[in-house]
Amino acid sequence: MNILNSTSLKQYNTFGLEASAKYLVEVSSLTQLIAVLKSDTAIENKVKFIGGGSNLLICNQIDALVIINKIVGVNLHSETEDKIQVTAMSGTLWHNLVLQMVEIGYGGIENLSLIPGSVGAAPMQNIGAYGVELKDVFVSLSALNLKTLQLEVFNLQDCEFGYRESVFKNKLKDHYFIYDVTLELSKNPITNTNYGDISATLMSNGIELNDANIKDVSNAVIEIRSSKLPNPKILGNSGSFFKNPVISTTHFEFLLSKFKDIKGFQTPHGVKVPAGWLIESLGWKGKKIGNTGSHAKQALVLVNYGGAIGSEIKSLAEDIIQSVWNSYQIKLETEVNIWEN
Ligand code: FAD
Ligand code: NAP
Repeated sequence: MNILNSTSLKQYNTFGLEASAKYLVEVSSLTQLIAVLKSDTAIENKVKFIGGGSNLLICNQIDALVIINKIVGVNLHSETEDKIQVTAMSGTLWHNLVLQMVEIGYGGIENLSLIPGSVGAAPMQNIGAYGVELKDVFVSLSALNLKTLQLEVFNLQDCEFGYRESVFKNKLKDHYFIYDVTLELSKNPITNTNYGDISATLMSNGIELNDANIKDVSNAVIEIRSSKLPNPKILGNSGSFFKNPVISTTHFEFLLSKFKDIKGFQTPHGVKVPAGWLIESLGWKGKKIGNTGSHAKQALVLVNYGGAIGSEIKSLAEDIIQSVWNSYQIKLETEVNIWEN
C-alpha cells in the first residue's frame, strides 16, 4: 500500500483539469482496498473514489484520500439455453467489457459501446445511450459498506435506477464502494437499431436492418460516437455535462407555440427535451470562452481547450443554465459529478 501525498489528479480526470489530492492511492484488490480503508489516513480523512474520471468536474484541491480503482476481472456464469450472466470487477473498463461480450456474441450492451470509464461507475448514473440503459441488463452488484467494511448485495430494486440516477448518487452517496456488477446477456440477441442515427449508419454501410447483428450495431455506435464526440485524450471533456430535462406536457406545448422547431420526446414522466437543442438554440454551440467552451459538434459537451481550471468550466455551466432558464424557464441539471473540496 503506497499512499502518496499531495498528488496531481490531472491524469485521473478526462477533463484533464489540474487539481491535486491531499492523499492518493491505487488499489488492485479488495484486500488492498480494505487495508487502505483501515489505515489512519482513511480514518482521519474523507475518502473519495475515481474509476476512469470521465464523469467528474474537479474544481479545487481535494482535501481527501482519493482511491483509484484498478480492481479488474470478468467472469461468465449461470448459463442457460438463451441467457448468460457476466460479473465484472468494478475497475474493469466498461468499453472493454462491451467489446468482449460482443465478440463472443452475447447481446444487450452493444448500444452502450464506447462509453468511457469503469464498470463500477456504470450503476452510479445508470449509464445509457441509444435507447438502452444499464438497468435493462442489470442483475445485481456487490458493494463494500464503508462503515462496516462488509460486502452487501444490491438487486435491481435496491439500486433505485432512474434517468442517469441511482440510489448511490442520492441517499447512499459516499456510503459504498461498488465492488462488482452482474449483468444478464442474451445468447440470441435481438438488436435495437431504431434510436438516433444507428439505422441510418447501418444502411449507409450497406447493412440491412433485419440482418444487423450486435457487432454491426456496436460498430455503428462506435462510428457515430467517434465522429461526433471529442476524444478526451485530445480535447478534455466529461461527456454530456447536463441531463436532458423532463418537463410537463403543458410547459412543452407552451414552448412549442413559441419555438416551432423545439424537440421533445414523450416519456412516462413528461416530455424529455434534448438539452443539446436548448443550448444550441441560444448560440452556445462551438462558442469558446477563455480556455473552455461548448463543443462545436455536440453542444451538451463542455470542453477544456487546455489549461482550464474546474471553476472556469463550472462558471460556463452556470451561464448556460441561466441562459436556458431565461429563454425557456427550464432549469438544467448537471449530469457530471462536481467535486469542490
Ligand atoms: P468516474 O468519473 O471515475 O466517477 C464518477 C462518480 O462515480 C464519482 O462520484 C465517483 O466517486 C463515483 N465512483 C466511481 N467508481 C465508483 C465505485 N467503484 N464505487 C463507488 N463510487 C464510484 N455516460 C452515459 O451514461 N452515457 C454515455 O453515452 C456517455 N458518453 C460519454 C462520452 C464521453 C466522451 C465521456 C467523456 C463521458 C461519457 N459518459 C457517458 C459519462 C461517463 O463516461 C460515465 O458516466 C461513466 O460511467 C463514468 O465512469 P468513470 O469510471 O469514469 O467514473
Ligand atoms: P442524438 O442521437 O443526436 O439525440 C439527441 C437527443 O434526442 C438525445 O438527447 C436523445 O435522448 C434524444 N433522442 C434521440 N432519439 C430518441 C428516441 N428515439 N427516443 C427518445 N429520445 C431520443 O444524441 P447524441 O448526442 O448523438 O447522443 C447519442 C446517445 O448517446 C444518446 O442516447 C445520449 O444520451 C448518449 N450520450 C451520452 C453522453 C453522456 O455523457 N451522458 C455523451 C454522449 C452521448 P437521450 O440522451 O435520453 O438518449
